[in-house]
Amino acid sequence: MRNTVKDLVSILKGHTQGAESGSDPDLIQKSPEPEHTPEYWRDWRWQVRHRVRDIKTFQQLLGITFSPEEREQLKKTIERFPLSITPYYLSLIDVNDYKNDPIFRQAFPSPSELIVENYELSDPLAEDKDSPCDCITHRYPDRVLFLVSNTCAMYCRHCTRKRKVGDADSIPDRAMIQEGIDYIRNNPQIRDVLLSGGDPLMLSDDYLDWILTGLRSIPHVEVIRIGSRVPVVLPFRITDELVGVLKKHHPLWLNTQFNHPKEMTASAQAAVAKLADAGIPLGNQSVLLAGINDCPRIMKELVHQLVRNRIRPYYLYQCDLSEGISHFRTPVSKGIEIMENLIGHTSGFAVPRYVIDAPGGGGKIPVFPNYLLTWSVHKVVLRNYEGMICTYQEPANYDRIFCDGNCNSCKLQLNINRADESKVVGVAKLLADYDETTTLIPENTDRVERRQDEPV
Ligand SMILES: *Cc1c(COP(=O)(O)O)cnc(C)c1O
Ligand code: SF4
Repeated sequence: MRNTVKDLVSILKGHTQGAESGSDPDLIQKSPEPEHTPEYWRDWRWQVRHRVRDIKTFQQLLGITFSPEEREQLKKTIERFPLSITPYYLSLIDVNDYKNDPIFRQAFPSPSELIVENYELSDPLAEDKDSPCDCITHRYPDRVLFLVSNTCAMYCRHCTRKRKVGDADSIPDRAMIQEGIDYIRNNPQIRDVLLSGGDPLMLSDDYLDWILTGLRSIPHVEVIRIGSRVPVVLPFRITDELVGVLKKHHPLWLNTQFNHPKEMTASAQAAVAKLADAGIPLGNQSVLLAGINDCPRIMKELVHQLVRNRIRPYYLYQCDLSEGISHFRTPVSKGIEIMENLIGHTSGFAVPRYVIDAPGGGGKIPVFPNYLLTWSVHKVVLRNYEGMICTYQEPANYDRIFCDGNCNSCKLQLNINRADESKVVGVAKLLADYDETTTLIPENTDRVERRQDEPV
């Protein structure tokens, strides 16, 4: 390990002469991103081999010393949730104010992770419950989450899948992945497959190619998506070879996770440009994190940087109820305040959708400030982002079309073969003209139980 540290430090020194150890805080501050780096700094394999995985190395690199008690606490934390930071990501930390640094906070363990609140859950999104086989979560009718890897270049301290990532017992093997591919093949309603993990881009090019080829051989799989933090924490992984593999399997979309403008370095920009040039539509899924990005101005700066780099802000996630991340959670009101500061104030396509991934497997629920104030039969009253209150006149004559669900005889001429003919579900069912359901009744209420002998 000592060699590793030395290597790293000599790089961070940018080849200047100086102290042996990494105790000079300026070393990291002046990290050579992006110029003046030796070639191996940009070699993602070198970065992976030299990931910082223990507190001691971290202390040396940042030139800080924790007390023995703190070290003991941190050790316990990383035994539970592993530590891993790429030298690249670490080099972005501002050592002069590391405690408030957004990179440090996302990457460095905190003993608060050992606190488990009574409302927290190890699998808050019930991903394991909605799982027909080891690697698949099938929650929505037409799309699945396919967990193909359980390693990441950097373990985010706020990770929602802390229960699994980095855990040697949950590494999916080829047989498990094949089982997932077979499940998708046997379920023709699946048109969208979302590869996640862990980080799918931590797999080798060949292995990834094998998975993508398997999925592409399934006629009903229309879209493949990859969720990866690699462009943020290990941008050098986006090589021409990797991009060559990905673009063979179009239409392929990629969502990444920039959480703070500081992460949009020249190297990250180069990585996402390669992906965009290969025709891969890029999206971003940020997590709203206390003390990191819970500020409308930071978020606005972030979304502007994203769109400048051809990345469409897709989701802003409310931090979910996973165990050990309570110190990252903001109230929902903070997210709404951020949305209030974005909608109307900036380009529509720069505004992500703020969602709460509902505990228990309810899926993502969008949350919004209210714009619709009130309405009558003739008029709708709305407010805009400036606080202007306006009326919208409803049409006097509207030819209501009664939909019987039969597209072939509809006067709208939607008699396309591919019209969605699946069963209408959920609240949409209550609205459907051709469905007679009038109520959705929650189970297990006293009221329903009292009625049990009688028909509802
Ligand atoms: C987020 C998620 C998806 C994809 O949802 P979109 O809203 O289409 O991005 C699919 N399955 C699961 C289990 C998810 O959590
Ligand atoms: S990259 Fe994703 S899966 Fe990996 S630790 Fe971060 S949030 Fe979790």
